[in-house]
Amino acid sequence: MSNTDTHDPTSLRTPIVAVLGHVDHGKTSLLDKIRGSAVIEGEAGAITQHIGATAVPLDIISTIAGDLVDPDDFDLPGLLFIDTPGHHSFTTLRSRGGALADIAILVVDVNDGFQPQTLEALDILKRSQTPFIVAANKIDTVPGWSVNEDTPINDTYESQSDRVRQRLDEKLYEIIGNLSDEGFSADLYWRVQNFQRNVGVVPVSAMTGEGVPDLLTVMMGLSQRYMKEEMEIDVSGPGVGTVLEVKEEKGFGKTVDIVLYDGTIREDDTIVVGGQNDPIVTEVRALLQPRPLAEIRTESRFENVDEVGAAAGIKVAAPELGDAMAGAPVRVVRDRDLEDVIEEVQAELASIAVDTAEEGVVVKADTLGSLEAMADALDEAEVPIVRAEVGDVAPRDISVASTAEDPKQQVILGFNVDVLSDAEHRAETDDVTIFTDEVIYQLVEEYDEYVEGIEQAQQ
Ligand code: GDP
Repeated sequence: MSNTDTHDPTSLRTPIVAVLGHVDHGKTSLLDKIRGSAVIEGEAGAITQHIGATAVPLDIISTIAGDLVDPDDFDLPGLLFIDTPGHHSFTTLRSRGGALADIAILVVDVNDGFQPQTLEALDILKRSQTPFIVAANKIDTVPGWSVNEDTPINDTYESQSDRVRQRLDEKLYEIIGNLSDEGFSADLYWRVQNFQRNVGVVPVSAMTGEGVPDLLTVMMGLSQRYMKEEMEIDVSGPGVGTVLEVKEEKGFGKTVDIVLYDGTIREDDTIVVGGQNDPIVTEVRALLQPRPLAEIRTESRFENVDEVGAAAGIKVAAPELGDAMAGAPVRVVRDRDLEDVIEEVQAELASIAVDTAEEGVVVKADTLGSLEAMADALDEAEVPIVRAEVGDVAPRDISVASTAEDPKQQVILGFNVDVLSDAEHRAETDDVTIFTDEVIYQLVEEYDEYVEGIEQAQQ
């Protein structure tokens, strides 16, 4: 499938949506529900199940949302959801210094309320000034709540008993209270028509699908009203994107999954990709998108496309991608000067670089964005960093950490990364302590406790 034939030189691109929230609050379920509804509602082939990102076109959103979304009221083409595993850290991804996501959904479990990752997510959203909507999830678990399927959320709400409504209201107002403690003003969003420019709280159930139409409606409304101008792009220009993941793919070697947020990328394009050392200059050998599930046979899970236009998620197969970094920029060169493009990539990488000291702890993270978020948190806690890199904890990290004289610095802090087994062995023999976690707050807290323990032992 290719979209070479339909280009308007300038056009509105699909807003990019990130889903954030505390672990187990329902991010994956919500994405699955949206994707599932889209697949059920869509004609065969209408949904492009991209890699790392799912595009849901406007006509399918309007089918899911029923009366709530009239496609004639919108000119944005739909929504592109970043759905890469471990997506919490992908919300910190950047595009030209700003956030990659144009808009975000913050998922909060109504029973569990605000938790460390919720606060962390709010911090990220605040810093990147990303507009967002709160999905108050799991409303089906409110005792006595009975689902009125296929009915807009406000009608379902009306049909509940006073006691049940009061129970849910209490939980929702707690969420709103927490948001205002964090400096946001929030509106409970029973009726989508009342949407204001503050944070909308939309009650949903990722399990039953209740409220999902309302959520999609609010997302479309927000994008259309406040982002339309920012969505204007030159769709035929050279592509600009961000690496989501670097993955080994059978038959292709190292590949990168990218989100393309501007222009187009074609087979045979020369591209520049941010690498661990120098920018990587290579040529696109294949653009791959997953085949629809039904078509997967034993051969390839992917089909080739010759061109993709923004905004889209796509797998790029090209030589020399072994050193590519998640979170790094990708640029198509096409008719521009190669040196200029390399400089652009270097400048963007430099804007995300972490300041290091002569002595300090070693930090590893899964993406450039999360590395930056880790560095900010450690800076606040006044913990110096000697080395900060994207990737799993490897033996050479142990070598660096083991040379520290202060035991408080013979430490590696890993965010959302694995520890390679030979690194684990080396750490034991070299007396290096490794902490890994998926919550930045917790990782910093664990390190603080460790430092306290050492200080107490020294007294
Ligand atoms: P994530 O860690 O934020 O991606 O959370 P998951 O989507 O994996 O959900 C965590 C758990 O909560 C799973 O057992 C889900 O089945 C459950 N869950 C998610 N959404 C809902 C919901 O709306 N209602 C109920 N009852 N359970 C839910």
